[in-house]
Amino acid sequence: MNISDNSVVSFEYTLRSDAGEVLDSSEDGGPMTYLHGHDQIVPGLEQAMEGRKKGDKFEVKVAAKDGYGERDEDAIFDVPRDRLPEGMPVEVGMELASQTPSGEPLFLRVVKVGADKVTMDANHPLAGENLNFAIEVTEVRAATAEEVRHGHVHGEGGHEH
Ligand code: ZN
Repeated sequence: MNISDNSVVSFEYTLRSDAGEVLDSSEDGGPMTYLHGHDQIVPGLEQAMEGRKKGDKFEVKVAAKDGYGERDEDAIFDVPRDRLPEGMPVEVGMELASQTPSGEPLFLRVVKVGADKVTMDANHPLAGENLNFAIEVTEVRAATAEEVRHGHVHGEGGHEH
């Protein structure tokens, strides 16, 4: 069957930057499984998956805006050190889980540590990067009615409930 809305799709992938550096791949974790048409993967890749079938291998370049978005310079900001928990070790590259005022999860990376302030970056680490995917579709099946209702995959590669 061909991939369309409410297909359960498994695929192997290698993700490279424009410079050819491997950013991520399914080599370690095994194939990724998702429910097509539910915004579970970046929009540019979901679009490229449409109509493919098991065994298809292809490469697709997803522009940053159709991937993890453009970098937002306003998402880089300084936090006074005395606003951070006392004694908390802070170093460049550290990632902190936080949340927005409306309660959405937010991941911050420390990009600079000064004497009295710390610079944080809330951009996704791959924001601003074009995404060069090499894909192999390993499985395509129709979602069950329950999976469609829940908006996610059950069983192998999915949720237990
Ligand atoms: Zn469920």
